[in-house]
Amino acid sequence: MNIQNILNSDFHKFFILLSHIQLQLVALVFLVILEITYFHRRKLPILSTWCFSAMMIFSLVFVLLDTAAIIEKNVPFYRFWQGRLISQLRIYAFLSVTLSIYLYVSLILGKKQSLSKKEKIKILGIYGFAILVIFLAQIRVKNDENGFYSYRIMNLFVNACSLAFASMTIIDTVNYSIRNPKAFFKGKRKYLFWTTAIWIFMSFFQMFVPLSSISSIAITAMSFIMYLGLETPGDFLDRETNALNGTALHLVLQNLTSNKKNFFIMNIDVEDFSQIEEKFGEDIANQIIANIGDFITQQCLCPIFRSEQNSITILVKETKKTNSTYCIDEMIGKIKNRMEDYWQIGDNKFLVSSHCDFIYYPADVPENLSMHELTKLIDNWHSYSDQKGFVRQADAQLLQKRNREIKIIQLVTDAIANDGIEMYYQPIYEIQADRFSNFEALVRLKDTTTIGFVSPEEFIPIAEKNGLIMKLSDKIFNLVFSFVSQKKLEEKGISHIEVNLSGLQSVDAALPNQMTELLKKYNLNPNIVNLEITESIAITSSFMLKKNMDQLKKIGCTFSMDDFGTGYSNLSQIANVDYELIKIDKSLLWPCFDEKNPNCKNARVILENMINMILKLGKKIVVEGVETKEQFEYLKKMGVTYIQGYYFSKPLPEEKYMEFINEKI
Ligand code: C2E
Ligand code: CA
Ligand code: CA
Repeated sequence: MNIQNILNSDFHKFFILLSHIQLQLVALVFLVILEITYFHRRKLPILSTWCFSAMMIFSLVFVLLDTAAIIEKNVPFYRFWQGRLISQLRIYAFLSVTLSIYLYVSLILGKKQSLSKKEKIKILGIYGFAILVIFLAQIRVKNDENGFYSYRIMNLFVNACSLAFASMTIIDTVNYSIRNPKAFFKGKRKYLFWTTAIWIFMSFFQMFVPLSSISSIAITAMSFIMYLGLETPGDFLDRETNALNGTALHLVLQNLTSNKKNFFIMNIDVEDFSQIEEKFGEDIANQIIANIGDFITQQCLCPIFRSEQNSITILVKETKKTNSTYCIDEMIGKIKNRMEDYWQIGDNKFLVSSHCDFIYYPADVPENLSMHELTKLIDNWHSYSDQKGFVRQADAQLLQKRNREIKIIQLVTDAIANDGIEMYYQPIYEIQADRFSNFEALVRLKDTTTIGFVSPEEFIPIAEKNGLIMKLSDKIFNLVFSFVSQKKLEEKGISHIEVNLSGLQSVDAALPNQMTELLKKYNLNPNIVNLEITESIAITSSFMLKKNMDQLKKIGCTFSMDDFGTGYSNLSQIANVDYELIKIDKSLLWPCFDEKNPNCKNARVILENMINMILKLGKKIVVEGVETKEQFEYLKKMGVTYIQGYYFSKPLPEEKYMEFINEKI
């Protein structure tokens, strides 16, 4: 045989070999591109992502071993044990891919970040059994003249295992979609469908056509579909800074808390973000945040998040190393030093003012906090802290305050959902008419046992801050209007009902319509509705408030300025035609009658002149907090229009109020 012939025959063999592994090579090229893209991106440090990464690695290992196994069958110089090892490893990799897909889907479906003991035992049981069988069984059964090979009984067993995982995935998915028909995996259904469809097709096909060797292509296709449709790393990234976003933070926190990990959270807050944004534009402001993020990533090697526009959040898991306060201190020290320096963006240098809110979990966090509350706590941490300086860590008092607030949020939420709100009515005496022509509606929570009585003074601002006020106000207005209409209070001589408007409600564009509909629903005359707006809101009087007041006045409602004398009394405000009634706060009245008050006389001078001035402006006056006969007689002499206070009556529940009114008529 001459050289030419040898070469020709080797080339020939090589091309035959290539023709056997062409599917594997195509799969390999695609998979490598996919893996480079995937592993290059920032990933979430959570269990489902670990699972997905494992699936990607196993897929690549599988395709490599699949290729190696075919080469081994066609190239004679392998020893027997090498061939067996490659085949065994190839099957292990295959089963690991299917197992990790099953785990991944069940984690993202259940939105959970840990597995129960039962689940772990079930999975390890099946997997362990399969591994044992493959280890002991005879593998290379047939090596026919085409160089193909098959596993016969082994082939059936392996694909049956794969089908078992596929069926478990389908059962989980169906269960989940029955339990949560609406939330069922919005937009991801079709990707899940195609993944399982290919999976089942591949397993059946391989079972009955063992020589087909389509698994490399099938697994690559599944990886692609899952990457594009299920894992979608873009969902967790903040586009401007390439940091992880708020959704990601939520998931990671869930992961850490459900695995009972201790961790530190640091929130670097850029205080002048909005000023920079306003002056230099959004891009520059975002770039500064991105640069801060980059610096922290380099220094701390831990995931960074941007859950709010103006801040970067860092999570550090507690380990032996980070546990030493020294390590965290050092980290904060470095960040602090850097934050004191400027940031160069293009030709401009920016010095920003910032601080770091610091939470240690679980010590700094109230017990039994829901995930939602925990993320909110992190976002709003600064609002519970009145500390100064760069690092601001919660102190005991702050935690207590926050603890109570969380309980109140729960209380109000429950009250809204379960009719736990009740209205009390405080009669208001009209001096000239000598009757109780008005009343003020004051809200109460029925539940006074869970954490005792909670004053509306405390829960109304909390409801405002936590997005509960609109639902609460809706309940309040319905209760008050239905009471007035049912008891036919107009016929009993009630000329005004005073209802408090919260700050947010008074600037809500929907308010006039809401009021019109409610008045219609209860068939009430709009003229008897007097809405109270506190002085502090009236002073900052926004465009929306003015617009709402104009529209409501057109319907026929009137307005009171509440708590007059508590804000930075802007006297010119009371001349405003919008307010028919001025309610003088008890803090102006009580010092006039306090014997221990050395400035009692001055207090009276102020009150008297205030009353005279308001009356001269043609407004009516209610004085609140009148508790004694002496106060009443004095105010009567001063010529105020109405008196409200414990002297006549405390706020009363419906029945008691009706008794009071029926008696006084
Ligand atoms: P406010 O609008 O100034 O209501 C008057 C408060 O003074 C009421 O307290 C009332 O019980 C109390 N009061 C009346 N007369 C006397 C008195 O002679 N002596 C003393 N010591 N207190 C008197 P309440 O019911 O605890 O309400 C506190 C605040 O909570 C209210 O102050 C108001 O700002 C807010 N609020 C109450 N109900 C509602 C409501 O339905 N909606 C809104 N948005 N806020 C409400
Ligand atoms: Ca009021
Ligand atoms: Ca008041």
